[in-house]
Amino acid sequence: MRNMRIMLVASEGMPFIKTGGLADVIGSLPKELIALGAEAAVIMPLHAKVKSEWSDKLEFIADAWIGLGWKTKYMGLFHLEQDGVQYYFIDNEEYFGGPVYKGGVAEVEQYAYFCRAVLSSLNYITFKPDILHCNDYHTGMIPMLLKTQYQNAEFAYIKTMYTIHNMQFQGKIDFKSMQELLSIPSMYNTPEFIEAHDDANMMKAALVFSDLITTVSPNYANELTNAYFAMGMEGIINARRHQLIGIVNGIDYDEFDPAKDPTLAKHYTIKTIENKLEDKKALCQEFGFDPESDAPIISMVTRMTKQKGLDLVMYALEELLQSNVRFIMLGSGDFRYHEFFNYIAGKYPGTAGIYIGYDEDKAHRIYAGSDFFLMPSLFEPCGLSQMISQRYGTLPIVRETGGLVDTVIPYNKFTGEGDGFSFKGFNAHEMLGSIYYALEVYYDKDALKLLQENAMLKDNSFHRSAEEYMKHYGGLYG
Ligand code: ADP
Repeated sequence: MRNMRIMLVASEGMPFIKTGGLADVIGSLPKELIALGAEAAVIMPLHAKVKSEWSDKLEFIADAWIGLGWKTKYMGLFHLEQDGVQYYFIDNEEYFGGPVYKGGVAEVEQYAYFCRAVLSSLNYITFKPDILHCNDYHTGMIPMLLKTQYQNAEFAYIKTMYTIHNMQFQGKIDFKSMQELLSIPSMYNTPEFIEAHDDANMMKAALVFSDLITTVSPNYANELTNAYFAMGMEGIINARRHQLIGIVNGIDYDEFDPAKDPTLAKHYTIKTIENKLEDKKALCQEFGFDPESDAPIISMVTRMTKQKGLDLVMYALEELLQSNVRFIMLGSGDFRYHEFFNYIAGKYPGTAGIYIGYDEDKAHRIYAGSDFFLMPSLFEPCGLSQMISQRYGTLPIVRETGGLVDTVIPYNKFTGEGDGFSFKGFNAHEMLGSIYYALEVYYDKDALKLLQENAMLKDNSFHRSAEEYMKHYGGLYG
């Protein structure tokens, strides 16, 4: 029997473009699938940044005019092979010449186009997938279009898997506009199909029409049966609970490796963990702290949104800064958080280091040079940052929600078990309690070392996740 052919469909992916954890997953999974004996491809938009940085490596395959409702739109198709993975890019200046996510209704149109273009491109691509693995709402119309508009296509046999990376973003638009974009018959404007709370909903379309649904941790899969987490999708989630599987993400062990990370001042492994101190000193210098101070560094690298629990941080940070600690924040997002952290930067120089922006190299140096990594999320489908910090021997302090429950074992001082710290309630003082507990452990050097070892020894690699995906692709492939 020939190898299974998997094509991942996503709005972003490493090493080309990244705004969050989805890109990491799209970067890691195909390489691991190949290692497990599958053939793997990825299809994504040719965003402006990718076009400018990768243009000399891209090979033009075809162009075509495709129908988007009553309009006709240009589609260019480019290809690139890297590490055995076939990458395909959809080119259209109007949709992908600007921001990766346009926001609001413009974003729904942007990615409705992408869904149509992906299916159209299958006519030109030599890679013939057995399974289209779609990710998040940006790809959500593909399973529906495939089942309702492509029954006679050569590729009608393709099975679809759909992964929910974040239920918060659903792609909503009034049905009439969706109908105009993708020629959806009115009979689908019902709660059994794509209607949800008076709108057409791309997430819902995927949840109804995909052959199998996965999400990025078992705990989030359970949480999604609850209206609070499902954000309006609880009906369809409960109806298909038996076809919803939680697979914990992993991280790319080549990209995140303290033994060879090119951004670090000094490399280290579990055996040479004392070298981590050099990275801490370098980080202190980078953020204007006294490099000779023994004060523990607590850091965050995050999108600045409500989801990430920043309201707890806003409430408790000044109290925390009265202790002998250093705090680092790297992130960007909502303006009110920018304002707050700029205020903190001005008031606590030498104690708080704030960088508003997106910087991958800086993120690596923070993961390596910090002692603790704070992630007090309101909800968290999986989370990668806590796993990255564990890989660097930096102990995560997390709120017990979603994938954070599946990936962080809280320290138990009686058994020595654990690879981080956690707290339950969405409450600033519970968070502080957990941080103070971590600070106590910081000064107990034996306990700290044990925890760091547990964290670094943990298998957070994407290999483990890929094995799970393979098992379920196999079930679909038959
Ligand atoms: P989410 O996907 O919800 O944003 P994850 O924890 O799953 O959260 O993944 C976030 C990824 O994005 C991590 O790799 C993290 O290091 C990275 N990241 C987030 N914000 C920044 C930033 N400002 N600069 C660099 N990397 C960032």
